Amino acid sequence: MGALGPYRDTSEQESGKQLTKTVFTTDIPGFIGSGRPPFDARSIHELVAEQARRAPHAPAVTCGGQTLTYQQLNARANLLAERLRAAGMAPEDVVGVLVRRSPELVVALLAVLIAGGAYLGLEPDDPRSRHELLLEDAGVGMVIVEDGLRDRVPDTVVAVGEGSPSDRPTAEPAALDLPCDPDRLAYVSYTSGSTGEPKGVGVPHRAVDRLVRGADWMEIHSDDVFFHIAPVAFDASTLEIWAPLVNGCRLVVFPPGAITLEEVARTVRAERVTVLLLTTGLFHQMVSSHPEAFAGVRHVLTGGDVASPSHVERLLTGYPGLVFTNGYGPTENTTYTTCWTSDTLAARRSVPIGRPISGTRVAVLDSDLQPVPAGECGELYAAGAGLARGYLGRPAATAERFVPDPFGTEPGARMYRTGDLVRWTADGTLEFVGRADDQVKVQGYRAEPRAVEAELERLAEVRHAVVLPQADPAGGTRLLGYVVPTDPDPSHAIGLGLRLRQELRAGLPGYLIPWAILIRPELPLNRNGKIDRRALPTATRVPRNVANEFVAPLTTVQLRLVELWGELLGVEPVGVDDDFFDLGGHSLLATELLVAVEREFGVDIPAQTLYLSPTVAELATALAVRLQAAGLDGPPEPAAGGPREGQSR
Ligand code: ADP
Repeated sequence: MGALGPYRDTSEQESGKQLTKTVFTTDIPGFIGSGRPPFDARSIHELVAEQARRAPHAPAVTCGGQTLTYQQLNARANLLAERLRAAGMAPEDVVGVLVRRSPELVVALLAVLIAGGAYLGLEPDDPRSRHELLLEDAGVGMVIVEDGLRDRVPDTVVAVGEGSPSDRPTAEPAALDLPCDPDRLAYVSYTSGSTGEPKGVGVPHRAVDRLVRGADWMEIHSDDVFFHIAPVAFDASTLEIWAPLVNGCRLVVFPPGAITLEEVARTVRAERVTVLLLTTGLFHQMVSSHPEAFAGVRHVLTGGDVASPSHVERLLTGYPGLVFTNGYGPTENTTYTTCWTSDTLAARRSVPIGRPISGTRVAVLDSDLQPVPAGECGELYAAGAGLARGYLGRPAATAERFVPDPFGTEPGARMYRTGDLVRWTADGTLEFVGRADDQVKVQGYRAEPRAVEAELERLAEVRHAVVLPQADPAGGTRLLGYVVPTDPDPSHAIGLGLRLRQELRAGLPGYLIPWAILIRPELPLNRNGKIDRRALPTATRVPRNVANEFVAPLTTVQLRLVELWGELLGVEPVGVDDDFFDLGGHSLLATELLVAVEREFGVDIPAQTLYLSPTVAELATALAVRLQAAGLDGPPEPAAGGPREGQSR
């Protein structure tokens, strides 16, 4: 651990719940640490087993009315671990987990750890080819797979069923006799790296332990109730799942299926969740449209992207005494690197990302690896127990980002170069400034527009491709593609954008598919002969890009819905049979749409209705029924005219 230098913890409780406060003085030392005394790292499953011994009948996992006690969770996981070992799994193996959110998912993750392996969470919604790519890259030979998802994994791997009710033992089976080693890998999480191709970040137990045990930036009480909603492939789930289970709390797993704000709000309240982590996009939307969800919550955490001060302010003034954390950090330093925990925003311009969490040190350095003065922008480097082992099977990429730590006291000490630009503020907290490269966040995931360009250029019909980030009406970022086709005949360009998006879908996760692809005869060049990205036309509206026939709106309700969809999705014309999600809609945009519908028509439509009836025509019917029920309108009348001017195909 590095010296604390001129920073010191005052432990003063200046603003109510501000947990630890750092006083900023003059010089900037190489590394700033949190000051928590180091303690011996432990394995995650060992800590969960300890909870099972301490309070065997305490509830561990709840999901949709089903509860597993700590004893049941531990026993079932041990049984599955035995089955993994019997099927040929060896310690240190990476094991895929393809199970939807459920108690079985938690059992599967714990089983992999007990059996001495590292889990690789696979997203049920991702294309099978993506699963194949990740399984091959991580050298996975075995996948724990939910019954209905067996066809999503290749025959080359051993598929182990996640278990059936008959597997539920009442007594704890003998634990596997495997020494616990905190330096063993606990999981592998894929994320885009600086060159774009997905890289498996290998995270040891030690790094998770430093996040979830003895934290100096959050209090965890044994009667706390946590909430799991993030995909396991995403490292927010590390905190969501293991923080409660190593501390003897209850974990509420949000049931599988579509995530709708009202269902999240309902579950959080019904299950009396007290510690709620929502990634930034979801957090903003919950504050805007379901602030009542936070009524019983003691501590709200967010992270993953830049938090909006107005939303944080709204939350904290609405719920005095509620504690809020803005957590910052790349996957390579295990979920959170720095955190800002407070119960007041006190008229700040931005939401700070705080200071290093327990077991972590950070430095803000210039390009010569020299500390930059306070107030100046530099790149953030992280060191300490949270560091990942590196990128699986990629020593060169690992060496490029995990560099020797010139301030380290231990031989071979490393620090991770985050690529994030930050500055120290006068009160000793860090402010996030932006990225040093062109990485962006799309729907909460790291995305490299250039990696999507490379994917597009692999397709036969594409000569050149450019992908640029663009502000999304839901408040985030989306990708817009520009393509010069191989075949210059303009008649072949008809429907090309749509075809290319479909081809990309076969290999890429949904968030990496550009919301639209514009076909261009050529790309603008600058004086140096390079593509001039800034000279590309920015589109806020693109031609309709779905395969079904265009059907014009007929009723006034349909007409108004078509206008709302067009504004939100940036597509025109919108036909009444077009599917919201095919047109580029996603869950955050769905929420925006429903808020707009309520504002426009004065009745609310449950998100479930949009998911089940995703076309304009279906939504208009559902809306007409609700309007009639509310006595607000008669049956839908025909619209005054046909499609709006300029909407012809
Ligand atoms: P996470 O799961 O924590 O979002 P990722 O590895 O997916 O981790 O993304 C990490 C990147 O996300 C960071 O390098 C930074 O660019 C951005 N990021 C994460 N948290 C924040 C935050 N609180 N404020 C601003 N940017 C953030």
